[in-house]
Amino acid sequence: MNVQNFIGGEFVDAVDHATLENLAPATGQLIGTIPRSKQPDVYRAVAAARVAQHEWADLTLDDRADWLEAIADALESRSEELARRESLDTGKPFSLAQRVDAKRSVENFRFFADFSREQEDLVFEMEDATNIVHRRPIGIVGLITPWNLPLYLLSWKVAPALLMGNVIVAKPSELTPLTAHLLAEVCQEIGLPDGVLNIVNGYGPEVGQQILEHEGIKAISFTGGTATGRHVAATAAPMFKKLSLELGGKNATIILDDAEMNQAVQGAIRAGLTNSGQVCLCGSRILVHESIADEFTQHLVAQVSAMKCGDPNHPETQVGALINMAHVEKVESYINLAIQEGGTILTGGTREMTGPPGPTPEGAFLRPTLISGLSHLSRTAREEIFGPVVTIHRFSSDEEAIEMANATDYGLAGSIWTRDTERGHSIAQKIDTGIIWINTWLHRDLRTPFGGVKHSGVGREGGSWSLGFFSEPLNVCIKHD
Ligand code: NAP
Repeated sequence: MNVQNFIGGEFVDAVDHATLENLAPATGQLIGTIPRSKQPDVYRAVAAARVAQHEWADLTLDDRADWLEAIADALESRSEELARRESLDTGKPFSLAQRVDAKRSVENFRFFADFSREQEDLVFEMEDATNIVHRRPIGIVGLITPWNLPLYLLSWKVAPALLMGNVIVAKPSELTPLTAHLLAEVCQEIGLPDGVLNIVNGYGPEVGQQILEHEGIKAISFTGGTATGRHVAATAAPMFKKLSLELGGKNATIILDDAEMNQAVQGAIRAGLTNSGQVCLCGSRILVHESIADEFTQHLVAQVSAMKCGDPNHPETQVGALINMAHVEKVESYINLAIQEGGTILTGGTREMTGPPGPTPEGAFLRPTLISGLSHLSRTAREEIFGPVVTIHRFSSDEEAIEMANATDYGLAGSIWTRDTERGHSIAQKIDTGIIWINTWLHRDLRTPFGGVKHSGVGREGGSWSLGFFSEPLNVCIKHD
């Protein structure tokens, strides 16, 4: 399955015909090639976007919302294929790709189409004048996304960017290009005007860097790691580009002493290990009240040990492969660090598959791993691992839980488990983060702000925050006669 760039409505190779191999994480086998794009390819994409820019911007919001609906319908009609490609490219279970990636990618387009129909220009009346705030397109925007939720995260940016009248140059992660390609196929199929959406594949430091540096690209929406985000900001901010940075997380799952035990255990597993812990929102640190810590840990270890890890295509598989062997090695280095820091591995930590056979031993598998006995200030407990590794820590009071939750450089998300939602709500407001769930996790209303504080990012996306980012307000003040 060879991928090409999508520029000016056509599928094309890199200008110099260079390619990269795309490997399947569950087997280590070759899926196909993708273009290894560089500066000329980005220039070509920007030129195509420029041609399309004004006609697209001149459409009404309603017309563009209709295009989003058309993309949603076309993607939905291929949602099984979408999930298959996502599972093949990422190694995640097909069932998860169906339930989360395919569903949400379609929803993102539909949500923004519907949401736009509720929007009106802001009007501020003065005694002697009326102010009308219009939202105008920015122009050409650059979208750079990671490999963990490939089309889910790309569509979260593409939909509001198009809606607000911008044209796009996007770069998906070179590890997971298949569903961005599918989006391009769908856009070609439905006749989206040429050049409105351009996708350029390749390495971050080559093609991504050119997107950051191109004078013609006026805004960058970036989702990825904190270190890359720092580099993105350092490059784009001096050029006065508008920037949205959605970065890493080291989120706390806080289990209060009055939590409903079964719900808290299930919630902590879902929060900690969905997509093998490769979700920026994952609760990779469990903070549990000391009075229930033993019972909670016993249930947690029993259930995590029983999780089926293996063939992503088998319906019983709960844990698929990680993104590649290099990432397995990185996660293992943190498990080794945890041991050096005095931690005890309660379950997992090995590469064996525990589910039905299928993938080859070259697959990037790592069993879900629980670690106790570490200080909440240890490196393992403070640094983002982005894999199936969850540490467990005890606290004795709400104040201590808050202090521990805040003891990282990150501040993206978290969850609190309690029968007393008022108490949970009060704790939530003292945690330095962008999102807190009470008795749930990753329960998303797409109208709400999404994003983090501290090293987890700058700005918010979602609902009107996305529309605000992907547009420039123009205030027109009309003096009354
Ligand atoms: P990453 O290494 O930072 O890469 C993200 C994207 O940036 C990729 O497309 C990458 O291309 C590109 N890139 C790398 N160097 C670049 C450069 N010099 N200029 C422009 N682009 C460049 O992150 P990842 O490993 O793919 O994803 C995992 C990280 O993303 C985790 O830290 C996770 O927490 C974070 N994340 C955050 C959110 C959120 O919403 N806050 C959501 C999901 C993931 P290559 O793939 O070619 O390197």
